[in-house]
Amino acid sequence: MMAQRILTQHWYKPGYNTLEGYKAEGGFKSLERVLAMKPEEVIEAVKVSNLRGRGGAGFPTGLKWSFVPKDSPKPKYLCVNADESEPGTYKDRVIIEQDPFSLMEGIAIASWAIGVHTAYIYIRGEFLSQAEILEKAVADCYAAGIFGESILNSGHRLDVYVHRGAGAYICGEETGLLNSLEGGKGWPRLKPPFPAVEGLFGAPTVANHVETINTRPTIFRLCPKGYAELGAEKSGGTRLVCVSGHVNKPGVYEIPMDLTFNELIHDEKWCGGIPGGRKVKAVIPGGSSAPILRADELDVAAEYEALKAVDNMAGSGAVVVMDDSTCMVRALWRVSKFYAEESCGQCTPCREGTPWMERIVRKIEEGQGEMKDLDLLMSVAKAIAPYPPIGLGTTICALGDAAALPVQSYVMKFREEFEQHIREKRCPFPHPFGKLAEEVIRK
Ligand code: SF4
Repeated sequence: MMAQRILTQHWYKPGYNTLEGYKAEGGFKSLERVLAMKPEEVIEAVKVSNLRGRGGAGFPTGLKWSFVPKDSPKPKYLCVNADESEPGTYKDRVIIEQDPFSLMEGIAIASWAIGVHTAYIYIRGEFLSQAEILEKAVADCYAAGIFGESILNSGHRLDVYVHRGAGAYICGEETGLLNSLEGGKGWPRLKPPFPAVEGLFGAPTVANHVETINTRPTIFRLCPKGYAELGAEKSGGTRLVCVSGHVNKPGVYEIPMDLTFNELIHDEKWCGGIPGGRKVKAVIPGGSSAPILRADELDVAAEYEALKAVDNMAGSGAVVVMDDSTCMVRALWRVSKFYAEESCGQCTPCREGTPWMERIVRKIEEGQGEMKDLDLLMSVAKAIAPYPPIGLGTTICALGDAAALPVQSYVMKFREEFEQHIREKRCPFPHPFGKLAEEVIRK
């Protein structure tokens, strides 16, 4: 297992998150290199790097760029998705704090490759200080001639705007984000047409997440082939994961693609095990929308294809570890409540199904469930998105899947615990925050 830090090697160094500090470590050299290449050569190089989108779907980035028509008479747009809202996910926030100029350089590289003259960074409304960091970084880049009329005197114009969202999960879905940017409701759109052809203001648009954009300068610093060789066969480089829950050392880690969840959780080099010597019970491998993994399933690598092979997903990189004191019914109820509240209501299976599932899980958790509720719960979830495998959803966007996959996987893998709640007519686990907190949460 190689464990190189190629993205985070300068994080937390004093001054690195300033323009001068970033330049002192070789910042913007990749942009200089890229500006000497033809745009199609840059896209080809990103394909060679095997970089996959880090937001959730894991789509190959170079391929996504190549879908943008070269000769479109309309302007093209780049949207950087900084709406990080998936429960458990906080890596983009740390990237913005520690490495804002790598993000700026990545934006400039993408703009050259795709032929974009206007880029938007869409950041969730709750990220107040991070939005200010971005606004300052953009202003510094204008002042230094990195953005503006002629980036690094190349003749290529690029304007960059920071746009604050109002804080809706669904605006992290790329077409919901585009509608929100246009000033409308952040409602996802039916696809096709895909944004690469008809996106922002009806024009070709590439939407990439913060980590995906932030990785670009590293690819050209190492050389695309070298970057690809650091990773797995179909996933180049390293990836960031943000670990939370019952581990001794939660945080954002840059991991090699072949690192397993067991290694990530237990090795001293990474999360250092479980507090109090308890045992792992379950792990959310890629944000709350991912199917749950049991303790005996953690020898899988935290990588796209490895997770796909076990009907799971790398998702947003949020790893949530639950020890053996965790009630899986309550855990599922919290997840279901979140998605029921965040559904935009456009499509019937999601609008009606997400609150329905939440009510059933809550009923079981409160000791009022019946055995037939488990079949009902599974049938509602299957009507939204049957699982396994992933990707058979019946809704406009992936929120429906995000709500239905946990329900099915938690019930399938921890059915005995659900049945115990029903048989004993109570939750057999103590609430971690006491009864009063529980009542507040239920409201
Ligand atoms: Fe809205 Fe849910 Fe349909 Fe997505 S799946 S468009 S969130 S109703």
